Amino acid sequence: MMTLSETAAVLRTADKVVITAHVNPDGDAIGASLGLMHLLEALGKHVTVLLDDDIPAAFSVLPGYDVIRRPQEGEAEACDLLVVLDTMSDRIGCVAAAVRAPRILNIDHHHTNPGTAGEDLYLDATRAATAEIVCDLAEALGVQPDAAAAACLYTGLATDTGFFRFSNATAHTYRAAAALLEAGAQPHVISEALEVRPLQTVRDLAEALGELELFAGGRACGIFLTQEQTARMASTESFIGHIRVIDGVDVAVVLKCKEPELCRVSMRSKHVDVSRVATLFGGGGHVRAAGCTLTQPFEEARKTIMTAIERAIREGWTA
Ligand code: AMP
Ligand code: MN
Ligand code: MN
Repeated sequence: MMTLSETAAVLRTADKVVITAHVNPDGDAIGASLGLMHLLEALGKHVTVLLDDDIPAAFSVLPGYDVIRRPQEGEAEACDLLVVLDTMSDRIGCVAAAVRAPRILNIDHHHTNPGTAGEDLYLDATRAATAEIVCDLAEALGVQPDAAAAACLYTGLATDTGFFRFSNATAHTYRAAAALLEAGAQPHVISEALEVRPLQTVRDLAEALGELELFAGGRACGIFLTQEQTARMASTESFIGHIRVIDGVDVAVVLKCKEPELCRVSMRSKHVDVSRVATLFGGGGHVRAAGCTLTQPFEEARKTIMTAIERAIREGWTA
């Protein structure tokens, strides 16, 4: 584990930097990546952001959205340093193979990240978002975020904290956000851009809510989407927020079947440590927001995750 100033020193000595983050990127993965890109460019470095996924169009409001690239097959990008943000390096898809870097620096806020042998790790699980750590790094590097960096970093803070409502938002998070507003971030522009959705997504939400299932005596609620539904629905990210609010529900889960034997699970909780549930299946995350992938057919995966959540509630798995 490195200190903040050691991490800043590693960044300072690199000239050609590739930044990446986890597949299925969220506002923190994208915002922290672009925010760090802007900071390093202000220091005169050559920076490339590679993400092995499509970037949702809602994020086109972020300065730098257009320069994010998905690596091509057989690509070999040489650089001095690969920076992996908001995950450990096992969830960056083909970027791992597409980049030739003598050094890998992993910056993350997930307490479930054990670090990877041969890589440098800077982990601060007290930070609500990786973007908040990038704010700490800006200070350590002595670089003031410009309006572009501020918009990106603000987006990371806002999306990982449910727009500053979740328990991970601290006084430090609010102070970092205030500094970003002073640097030019416009919260209403970002929240309006991220809120807007196609009519069909609202209809898909109605379909999903129509099928929600309560279990564990009403203390858990799930939406379980078959492969057909998952393939048909363009965006399901917002669904979980609508069931975690149900009175009496501690754990909310959304399971999406992506392939005949591959299901993606997202969990949110009020008390139960869902990162412990996710870790059972090789996933990870935070106490109140975690995820994993089950290599099982839909019905089996549905039973597996329901059983694990029931057990976590019954046995009182809290952090
Ligand atoms: P999500 O439900 O996809 O928004 O993820 C919730 C939290 O769990 C985020 O902090 C993710 O980075 C983390 N997470 C989700 N899936 C995984 C996984 N397969 N492995 C490790 N962490 C995960
Ligand atoms: Mn993330
Ligand atoms: Mn994050």
